[in-house]
This record gives sequence, structure tokens and C-alpha cells, in this order.
Amino acid sequence: MRQLTFLGPGRLEWQEVPAPALEGRGQALVRPVVATTCDLDRWMISGGAPTPPGPFPLGHEFVAEVVEVGDDVRSVAPGARVTVPFSISCGECDRCRRGITASCTAVPVGAMYGVPVRGQWGGAMSDLVRVPFADAMLVPLPDQVASTTVASLSDNLPDAWRAVAPHLATRPGAEVLVAGGGAVSIALFAVDIALGLGASRVVYLDEDPERCDLAERLGAEVREGAPPARAGRFGITLDASSTHPGLHCALRSTEPGGVCTSSGIYFEATTPMPLLEMFTNGITFITARASSRPIIPDILAAVVDGRIHPERITSRVVPWDDAVHALLEVPTKLVMERS
Ligand SMILES: [Zn+2]
Ligand SMILES: [Zn+2]
Repeated sequence: MRQLTFLGPGRLEWQEVPAPALEGRGQALVRPVVATTCDLDRWMISGGAPTPPGPFPLGHEFVAEVVEVGDDVRSVAPGARVTVPFSISCGECDRCRRGITASCTAVPVGAMYGVPVRGQWGGAMSDLVRVPFADAMLVPLPDQVASTTVASLSDNLPDAWRAVAPHLATRPGAEVLVAGGGAVSIALFAVDIALGLGASRVVYLDEDPERCDLAERLGAEVREGAPPARAGRFGITLDASSTHPGLHCALRSTEPGGVCTSSGIYFEATTPMPLLEMFTNGITFITARASSRPIIPDILAAVVDGRIHPERITSRVVPWDDAVHALLEVPTKLVMERS
């Protein structure tokens, strides 16, 4: 089969590799039909983040068609169109039962598609992908939802959702601050989700004029430029800046008793934080790889009823075969579609 392989920053190529096969009765083989870039992929391709040495199959955000299932699989059948969570999870261990599917105990910590974290699980931009726990992982898509709309349902869309949706539920109508610029699509998804779920105001910070324009079209109040020391007081804040000034701005702009989530990923052993201010103001800080699987149904429901519009964050859709060239241009959110 053909697979898009990451060789190193700026180096991608299609390779012929052996196709995966079913290795257990609870598994499925799926054929990706739409894939997109996680914000982490953009960093790896551009050399902006430390990457494991290649070669490895790229991509962990995708919609796929089920091709074959093992005898024990009950929830999907060949032909079903499904979203595939980026992290591998069994659905049955203690952590999976508590919704922490990103840290499933049945697989090594961090096991995921598209990045070789203690194992190789395949990549989204391939002809065939093996899903180890099909009933636990796969979520069928409703007919009315286009695959390109929910290409990011595997990872970045749930990452943005977890940063705002549960906190808006306990603080209805809260004001939300989003510091963008690092995890670029997560930040923009968060703007759309916050407004769709009833935030009274969303302020978006970024130095990039194009992303600021998009955030404004989504309905945010935009502040273009470097993050200020403090941008106001918000019940809910998201640091998707991946910079110390952005992180500190989000933390210092969180109102007493508020919650700040960081999706920025800091590739350093220790990151400075204003802990005394956070202590004094009683700020809750959350950072984690998103546990996508349990929240995918809620996100899908919000797409179906028109509260959120993830397709507005897509910057470009290209044919599958054009993926290498288009990926090397590193657009905000590139979607690749098989014809
Ligand atoms: Zn990702
Ligand atoms: Zn598990």
C-alpha cells in the first residue's frame, strides 16, 4: 500500500509499504478518505518542534471507511464512515472508563497514530490503517456531516472543545480569552466553539493578520500583536500560543476562580509560571493531551445542529495525491481528500 512518510523536517514522500492486517478479533482495518494536519504536524514539517527520527507514517487526524472487521466487532461494519481518535485506547481499562482515553493502560503511554511514541501504529495519510480496539475507538458519522467538515475530530477539534465546553457548562455565558499563534487550529476551533456554546464574548490574541481576520469573521474581538501582560479578566482562558508571554498572559488574564487550559505544548523540561498569582487568585490550570474519544459524540451533535462550524477553520482542501506538495507549504489547516 501507499503511505505518506515523514523523513525529517521539510522531507515527506509517498512510499510503498506492506499493508497492515487484522491481528485480533476486536480489530478493524480502515481506509482513510479525508485527512488533515494536527497543529503538531505543522511544527514537525516546518522543523519548529523536536521530532522523533524518521521515517514514520505521518498523520493522526482522519475520517475513514471501514474495510474489514474482526469477528468480535459489533459497532461498525465494512462500508461504515467513521472518525478515528488519534490516540489508541481500549475502552475497558480503569482510565478509559474514567474518560482518560489518552492514557489508556492497555498500550504504552502516548500511543497514537502518526508519531512513533513507543511503537508504530500507522498514519492517517495511508491506504489502510489498523484500529486495535474497533468498538472502543471508532465513531460512525451521521450522513449529513461531510467528512471534510470533521476531519479534525480525531484530535484538534476535541482539544479545543475540552478547553471551553465543560467550563462554559459550569459558567454559562462566561467571557473567553484565546491566545493563539502556536497550536493555530486549536485556537481558532476554540473561538468558534466558545461562541457556539454561548460565551458572551471571545477575545482572540495572535500576531498573524490572516488568522486574526479569520477569528474576527468567526465572531471574536481580535487583538493583533504580541500578547500583553494581561488582556483583561476572563472566566475561561486558553493558551494555544506555545510562547511564555502567551501562556503568562492567559494565566494572568484568568479571573479569580477561573480556569486556564494550555494546549500549546512546551518542549522544555521546565516552563516558568506565575504560581504565586495563580495561588492568590485560585486559578485552575489544565494541561494534557486531549482524551478525544469520550467527547466526540457531543462535538458531532454540535456540528449537526449548527452550533459549531469546524469547516470555517479549513484553509485549503487538496486532492489526496497532492498532499506532499501542499503539506510542505504548511497552511493553517490543510485537508486532503481522496477522490
Ligand atoms: Zn495531534
Ligand atoms: Zn484503556
